[in-house]
Amino acid sequence: MAIVLLVEDNPVNAELARTVLERAGFEVRHAATASAALRLARELQPAVILMDLDLPDGDGLAVVRTLRVDGPLAATPIIALTAHAMAGVEQAALEAGCSGYIAKPIDTRSFGAYVSSIAAARKPSGGNQGGTGA
Ligand code: MN
Repeated sequence: MAIVLLVEDNPVNAELARTVLERAGFEVRHAATASAALRLARELQPAVILMDLDLPDGDGLAVVRTLRVDGPLAATPIIALTAHAMAGVEQAALEAGCSGYIAKPIDTRSFGAYVSSIAAARKPSGGNQGGTGA
């Protein structure tokens, strides 16, 4: 089961996203701070990271920039989550290395399918997904 790392400090938003993602078949792990996001991303190597941009201990985009120079996570899809539905924020998210952008509140009808498409697009066709221990 593909792991999604959900970084969101608002408990209501986090619970809603978790419910939708689990319904879409993901295993959801949650971080509520930038420091926890960095630690869990490195530990879990998730298929997709959903990144709130406003975190209590820092800027979500700073986390993204850090992960983008972190070898194993350099190509991991990261989708920014922000309440600031403004073009400038979207541009900043993409420049920081985000793969996509979702304005909150999430649309529960399309969110799961969107994250699934991002996760599927990442897998190289015919690629070895591991399991041999090599
Ligand atoms: Mn937040």
